[in-house]
Amino acid sequence: MSDFVVSPFPTPFVPVGGGGRFPVRRIFCVGRNYADHAREMGSDPEREPPFFFTKPADAVLISGAAMPYPSQTANLHFELELVLAIGTAGSAISAGNALDHIFGYAVGLDMTRRDLQDAAKKTGRPWDMAKGFDASVPIGEIAPASRIGHPASGLIELRVGEAVRQSSDLSMMIWSVPEIIAHLSALVRLEPGDLVMTGTPGGVGAVTPGDRLSGRIEGVGSVETTIA
Ligand code: MN
Repeated sequence: MSDFVVSPFPTPFVPVGGGGRFPVRRIFCVGRNYADHAREMGSDPEREPPFFFTKPADAVLISGAAMPYPSQTANLHFELELVLAIGTAGSAISAGNALDHIFGYAVGLDMTRRDLQDAAKKTGRPWDMAKGFDASVPIGEIAPASRIGHPASGLIELRVGEAVRQSSDLSMMIWSVPEIIAHLSALVRLEPGDLVMTGTPGGVGAVTPGDRLSGRIEGVGSVETTIA
């Protein structure tokens, strides 16, 4: 017997490679973590500490499913990113201990209504509706760190159809995975089920219905979706 006054909702999840499901609690995202992307967004990559925004847990879209083109935008952009899956709670985690808190890694897309984000930046308003819309996080299987280790380098590449649109290396991140966890856990207590999207390299661009997006990160995995 439940006294919830509306039906309790299912726990969002991401499949884990090798079996099981990772329940999603929160989704944190790092802004401007590759210098070439910071520049293409009109920022100076040298002077900014990492900053964070969030997306709802139920924005995850399991790889292979179609992504509906969202309402209220005419400029839907892809951002291919390494995603961390937090397995062990902690606050004020040191960079030296950060990797102990990671269950595994996935390849994800931080889909963005770029026109709404540009308008929000100009007016100093929140990014939520530019970033946190339904199905805005297509994501592939989580690869446990117990199997793949902790990748600090490796090709990160996005194709639209057959055309390579983003191609970089994880080693090009301005803030490393341990540094991201140190900064983020100084702001909030990280909990099992949290996902952290670690920023995108340069080359972001618009997609339209019918486009097929496929992203991969060497040593981690892949993600695929078609814009419907
Ligand atoms: Mn992003």
